[in-house]
Amino acid sequence: MKYISTRGQVSPIGFVDAILMGLADDGGLLVPEHIPQVPEAVLKQWQKLSYPELALEVFSLYVNEEIPREDLKKLVDDSYSTFRHEEVTPVRELGDGRYVLELFHGPTFAFKDVALQFLGNLYSYVSRKTNSIIHILGATSGDTGASAIEGVRGKEGIRICILHPHQKVSKVQELQMTTVDDANVLNLAVEGTFDDCQRIIKELFADVGFKHQYHLRAINSINIARILAQTVYYFYAYFRLADKGQTDKASFSVPTGNFGDIFAGYLAQKMGLPIHRLILATNENNILARFVNEGVYQPGEFRGTYSPSMDIQVASNFERYLYYLHGENAEKVTSLMAQFKAEGQLVIEGDVLKQVQADFAAYSVENEECLNAISGYYERHNYLLDPHTACGAAAADQLAEEGEAAVVLSTAHPAKFDEAIRLRQIAQTYPEPIQALFDKPQIQTVVGGTNEEIKAQLEAFF
Ligand SMILES: *Cc1c(COP(=O)(O)O)cnc(C)c1O
Repeated sequence: MKYISTRGQVSPIGFVDAILMGLADDGGLLVPEHIPQVPEAVLKQWQKLSYPELALEVFSLYVNEEIPREDLKKLVDDSYSTFRHEEVTPVRELGDGRYVLELFHGPTFAFKDVALQFLGNLYSYVSRKTNSIIHILGATSGDTGASAIEGVRGKEGIRICILHPHQKVSKVQELQMTTVDDANVLNLAVEGTFDDCQRIIKELFADVGFKHQYHLRAINSINIARILAQTVYYFYAYFRLADKGQTDKASFSVPTGNFGDIFAGYLAQKMGLPIHRLILATNENNILARFVNEGVYQPGEFRGTYSPSMDIQVASNFERYLYYLHGENAEKVTSLMAQFKAEGQLVIEGDVLKQVQADFAAYSVENEECLNAISGYYERHNYLLDPHTACGAAAADQLAEEGEAAVVLSTAHPAKFDEAIRLRQIAQTYPEPIQALFDKPQIQTVVGGTNEEIKAQLEAFF
């Protein structure tokens, strides 16, 4: 399997090089040269597998023999042994055709751990095998940072710098990142929004000289390894519905910001998983829902919401979808992205828009609706949703079809977002590892949002 860029200007590279490249050198995103197909008979066999066994099979399709199978198996087993639940990502049936796919049993209580525990181990493996330095640079709306740091803290050969928007992440998210005292971790709190942080990162990675000089590596969902790791739980959840004979109309409702998680579902579907519908749920930062419903991709006004990890206006993975939407035509993608840069919007019409609407159903959830979903599910199902998951649940409810089994992806544990939960007078007890964070000292540097300032910090740290 080789990897190519959505903009067509990178000669095909192998899996390890694709992971290391992160953002493609031509400014595009890396995608597999072809999408491996999983025949029905193989799906049947996969249904019996444990989560790590399944992950090993899925990764094998994308890694080929580049990493020997026994090494890959060890990477997978190490990555998922840190999860607190034996099933890794269990599916809970709530009744009324609603299921919750709990993705928050990893070390930082958010779904990012599913991919970043693996990516952390993979980086460490590559660093050892190739005797090379790995400097990770990433932006976070809260969960990626904590999860990436947890994936590599204290690991030899790796340093990590994470930018987060100062005071725009939840308290628990901030503590998870900034209470880590390992010397290979640098937290920069940027005066600005997540989009500012992401823009800085994108520009620093696009500066190929700087990127190569400092051996910069990405952990954001532009990294193809993250997407691949996230396809696994779509298969896993589908099989749990299959165990119950509930797959006639098996849909997934996915709370989305950067289009990463839902793109993983789209990829799983393209690999042959018979998903009925992919429901794209946004909060009030609803560029993606507007795109699906109206065909206009245009950033709006930034809104602070109860689901800060989805407070995103420019979805970094969107380009991957554009690529498939336009029949894997890299020239078309290049011109569309240039147009987007010049005009600040993209307009999709006619049959192409019909295709978008066949690929996704979309709904944008307002702040009040999000809180209503939290209290509603708590009362009806005695189940506490975090505000991101609540957006997925609200969208599933809004767009529900007769006889549909809707799996809502639960992207975080409610304890990470108590600010929102408290607004509905619901009291929760923190899991012990979260409670313990409140007693630890924080280490972070507050910086302005210019590239020069960030560069200076990096030069001093790396
Ligand atoms: C990152 C995140 C999301 C959004 O995921 P994308 O891959 O950016 O679409 C949703 N919920 C939580 C809790 C997150 O941390």
